[in-house]
Amino acid sequence: MITRIKGLLVLLFSGLTAVHGAPMKALIVDGQNNHDWKTTTPALKAILEETGLFTVDVATSPQARGDMSSFKPDFGAYRVIISNYNGESWAKETQAAFERFVRDGGGFVSFHAADNAFPEWKEYNEMIGLGGWGNRNETSGPYLRLRDGKWLRDPTPGRGGSHGAQHAFVVQIREPAHPVMHGLPAEWLHAKDELYDRLRGPARNLTVLASAYSTRESNGSNEHEPLLMAISFGKGRVFHTALGHSMEAIRCVGFATTFQRGTEWAASGQVTQKVPANFPTADKVSSR
Ligand code: ZN
Repeated sequence: MITRIKGLLVLLFSGLTAVHGAPMKALIVDGQNNHDWKTTTPALKAILEETGLFTVDVATSPQARGDMSSFKPDFGAYRVIISNYNGESWAKETQAAFERFVRDGGGFVSFHAADNAFPEWKEYNEMIGLGGWGNRNETSGPYLRLRDGKWLRDPTPGRGGSHGAQHAFVVQIREPAHPVMHGLPAEWLHAKDELYDRLRGPARNLTVLASAYSTRESNGSNEHEPLLMAISFGKGRVFHTALGHSMEAIRCVGFATTFQRGTEWAASGQVTQKVPANFPTADKVSSR
């Protein structure tokens, strides 16, 4: 009898393993940022690991500006790289290894100010699609502007990247059938955050998954601004979230859920996670 129960347990366990597979290896890169990366990286790691889908390592660059030649993460050992980095240029060798990783089918997640990084690095800007600050302007690429339900490329000269006063704002889903967005409510109220506006970049092979309206009252752009994006680069998938300025923003269930789902999609091309019951509604913030 005991043997039979053991046998059943083994069968059950192997069945579960077959369904869920081994956790995917993920790597967060950080070390320089005009944001509090020492606090946010452990929070991002915990958010990803609680799904049971990932084991997360962290690669921290030299923190003092200077010689970056020692920063050579083994990108190829991972399914997905998450950037919480906004600092000085990586060594050419590290840039080339990262390009190769994504081009060959690796996943990449650009988190908040990671889209401020590397204004001069052409391939990086192709990966993130849109970026801000770092003297970005019309030479960086167009703005994306929502006109009659379509995102148009707007080459009007002007700065790339700004934001108004932090506030809670409604995020609107633009691609409800995309795996990252599937099953989420059409609109949800995101906790107080920076609402990045006027981002510019190559914006090729880019799908705007969700946007928010940047109001004049908040000193914004008076436009719908792309905030969650999916980009393809070679065989690789990129999930770009412009959300997440502070821990208050990161604790938002809407942020965490889209970050978890976007990372799974970037790593594997699919999303197996259920939408949590406490997901925010259009008029109520939900925090973890
Ligand atoms: Zn910020």
